[in-house]
Amino acid sequence: MRAWSVVAPGPVEEGALRLVEKPVPAPGDGELLVRVLACGVCRTDLHVTEGDLPVRRAGVTPGHEVVGEVAGLGAGVSGFTVGDRVGVAWLRWTDGTCAYCLRGAENLCPGSRYTGWDTDGGYAEYTTVPADFAHPLPAGLTDLALAPLLCAGIIGYRALRRASLPAGGRLGLYGFGGSAHLCAQVALAEGARVHVLTRGAAARRLALELGAASAGEAHAMPPEPLDSAILFAPVGDLVPVALRALDRGGVLAVAGIHLTDTPPLHYETDLFYEKELRSVTSNTRADARKFLTLAARYKVHATTHAYPLSRADVALRDLKAGRFDGAAVLVNDLG
Ligand SMILES: [Zn+2]
Ligand SMILES: [Zn+2]
Repeated sequence: MRAWSVVAPGPVEEGALRLVEKPVPAPGDGELLVRVLACGVCRTDLHVTEGDLPVRRAGVTPGHEVVGEVAGLGAGVSGFTVGDRVGVAWLRWTDGTCAYCLRGAENLCPGSRYTGWDTDGGYAEYTTVPADFAHPLPAGLTDLALAPLLCAGIIGYRALRRASLPAGGRLGLYGFGGSAHLCAQVALAEGARVHVLTRGAAARRLALELGAASAGEAHAMPPEPLDSAILFAPVGDLVPVALRALDRGGVLAVAGIHLTDTPPLHYETDLFYEKELRSVTSNTRADARKFLTLAARYKVHATTHAYPLSRADVALRDLKAGRFDGAAVLVNDLG
């Protein structure tokens, strides 16, 4: 089969990602062989390609927002048949035996493995996934529409739950990219009043179109105190800004895997009256399954840009250069 391979991590413009021949992977015990239909392009794929993340598998094939169909079953698989449409996401495997897994926090498992980093992902004709980590996909959404939900959507959903928004509550979203605009749609469908605080004028327009109650500059105060806030922008300077916007007892969740340093916090203004500051780390399978169910019910949709899979390198270069809004999705034209 043909597959993209990170031959030597470095700038994507200089050929770090090459289209190569690889054998069609054989599904191991408990695994599915998946024929790729579409694969979303996530910024993490760029980090894997350019070496911002350490190499965990030489020549890895990136891609962890895979919509595919089951093409083969390894030994001992039940619950799936050839032809089923499934999703393959970032979390590929956890040990199931550590203290975190045992208490339902598998997102914190120290032994966890990730699709398109530890193992070959979806920038290829075929990939594999442990059946226990494959996601059944709701009908009624196209491959193109589903792909971006499998990373950006799931992460945004976990951040929303970590922010403990009360029913009908007031939610602030700092930054309004891929994850945030999907998270906003879930919050709005559940009756929240959403205030978006972000620097991009186009993003503020999109927020209002989706039904946000207000959209302002990132450093502005929202028009009312917030019960919960989520910081999607990787900007530590915004931590005290968002904490000050919280009402008494409010919660700020930091959604990103990376954040610039925060300035000193002032206990009186930023944390007293039982305000809480929380981080968000990866997600569990339960998060993914709940979100995919709700996404279908609430008709959550991402703005997508289709690229042929044979041009994955162009899609990553365009992502790096900010040449499109919304999410790029690779559609398999390789076979
Ligand atoms: Zn991702
Ligand atoms: Zn574990």
